[in-house]
Parts: sequence; structure tokens; C-alpha cells
Amino acid sequence: MTDKDWERYSRQILFQGIGETGQQRLLDARAVVVGCGALGSFQAGALARAGVGRLRIIDRDYVEFSNLQRQWLFDESDAEQGLPKSIAAANKLRAINSSIRIEPVVADLTPGNVGDLLAESSLILDGADNFETRYLINDYAVSNDLPWIYGAAVASYGISMPVVPGKTACLRCLYPDPPSAAQPTCETAGVLGSLTALIASLQVSEAIRILCGAEPSRKITTLDVWTGEIRQISQPGPQALCPACGLREFPYLKGEKRAPVSLCGRNAVQIHERARPLDLQELAIRLTPLGPVRANEFALRFETPPYLLTVFADGRAIVKGTTDIGVARSLYSRYIGA
Ligand SMILES: [Zn+2]
Repeated sequence: MTDKDWERYSRQILFQGIGETGQQRLLDARAVVVGCGALGSFQAGALARAGVGRLRIIDRDYVEFSNLQRQWLFDESDAEQGLPKSIAAANKLRAINSSIRIEPVVADLTPGNVGDLLAESSLILDGADNFETRYLINDYAVSNDLPWIYGAAVASYGISMPVVPGKTACLRCLYPDPPSAAQPTCETAGVLGSLTALIASLQVSEAIRILCGAEPSRKITTLDVWTGEIRQISQPGPQALCPACGLREFPYLKGEKRAPVSLCGRNAVQIHERARPLDLQELAIRLTPLGPVRANEFALRFETPPYLLTVFADGRAIVKGTTDIGVARSLYSRYIGA
């Protein structure tokens, strides 16, 4: 640890639970934040400040004005430019702490890339907004014996839980399958910025604890910031009949449960079935006669009212203005190509 590190992290080194040994462990660790929305952007900021040595930020989406109310790392210029969230986050994080390594990844976490994107990580933080991704993280983490911290927030209600394989219950011990009925989302029920900060803060505290070598808290915390109610229950241990940590079945990792196209909230469909590198500059030239186009090295936006297509360099696209998968697919083939 350098003298500068000492000074920067002095207040948490003084804290008994961390000390110099704990700080060195944080500096040696690599944390991965999956999903850089309200939870993830808070997590990333807090972990960068705490001095986690390598920080990978994975997100599939771009910054919008409706994010700014609760997504702490982003500002108006990020939304105006429509920057991918992981890129905008990396810009801010490097200004917060230039001595650590920030690795932004513009991608949707899928069974096809999870092995590459989560490899060599010490711990995973859940900043995702959907169960498909959380069950994928759980399968990967349990099968690779990695800790991860589950967190979710909608309206004024949220939950946080650490998962440490072999020590605590995993997500599938408690919920063997994702909810089958439609769940309230931030797009339908709204969400409070104070809630997401609180849930993310609990997740980060747990992450730092585990990264420093301490035992997980073994607590499931649920809270409602509007009524002021906070509840904690003891987290059970691993369940023998759990399909993941007990029976070692990992269907999410194999992609058996994955739809080729998914709704991603807010009146939009994500097309992620055609992964291949795209030349965005070339595509911009092709689309310019057809409507307003804006492109940078990470993403291209093309307006064809009432739709807005955002195309990423990996061939993925988010079609805004519809929840109809057929419409989204046909716009994709018409403008981007099959
Ligand atoms: Zn389990």
C-alpha cells in the first residue's frame, strides 16, 4: 500500500472490522457489478471510493433522463449523449478514484458470455432489474463457489441478501424458480431514489465485509422507506434439496431457460439473438437518408417515429416504442439486417 493509499483510505483502515489487512484485501479484489442502474451505479461509486482494486461494470443499456432521479453516477450530459451506462459510469469512477482499474463492459450478461465476463472475480454485486439475470448470476456463482449479493428495489420496497456458496442459502434455496406472475417494475410502480441507495448500501456493506475476509451477516433484510418498516430474518444455510447448491443443476447457465428476445421494461424490446460485431459508422451512413441518426464508438441511435432503435457494437439492439416482439424483430431486420 502506498502512502497515498494510506491517506485516502485512512478512515476505513481505522475501522476495526477492516484495518490494514482488510484494506489490502480490497485493493487486491476484483468486484463485478452486473447492471449499472440505480443499485449498480451506487454500488460502483461506493466500491471505487472504498478502494476495490479492480471493478468491472457490466450494463446493456444507455443513460436516459428518467434515470437521473436515482442513478447517482449519471448527469444530464450523459443522457443527452445517450452514452452506454457502463461507459458513463467508468468516466465518473475514474475521476473519483484514478488509482484503481475500471473495466466497463457494454453487454447483456448471457449464458454465452457469463464465463468470460465473470471470470476471475472475487465477488458479484446484483444491480440487475430482472430475474433472468439474477438466476444466471446465481447459477454461475454457486457452480464456481463465488459470493454474490442479491438486491432488488421497486416503489418504496426492497430486499438485500448475501449468497455465499457452502455457507448460506442461495437464491434458489429460497425461490427455486423465478416468479411466474408479472411483477411490479420501476416502470409501472415507480421507485424512490432513497430506497435504491439504501438497498445498494446494504449490498455494498455486505460485499466489503466478505471481501475483507469476514463471515457473511447471514441476514435477509427487507424494508419499506415510505412506511419506515425494516424487517430482518436469519438466513438459512444451504438446502440439501436446492436445485442449484444441493442438486448441482444449472439450467440458467446452459441457457435452457432463456428467451431469444426479452422485454426490458419501459415500452421496449431487446433483440439479443444476433450477436456479431457491427460496424456502427458504416450503419450510420446507410441509415442517414432514412431518418435522424447519431452514432459514437459504442452505440448508434436511429429514430423512425414512433420507434427509437439503439444498436450496440455487439449486434444487440433495444427497440423503444413497442412491447411487441414481432414489431421489434421486423424493425431490426428492416434497418439493421438479419
Ligand atoms: Zn441453494
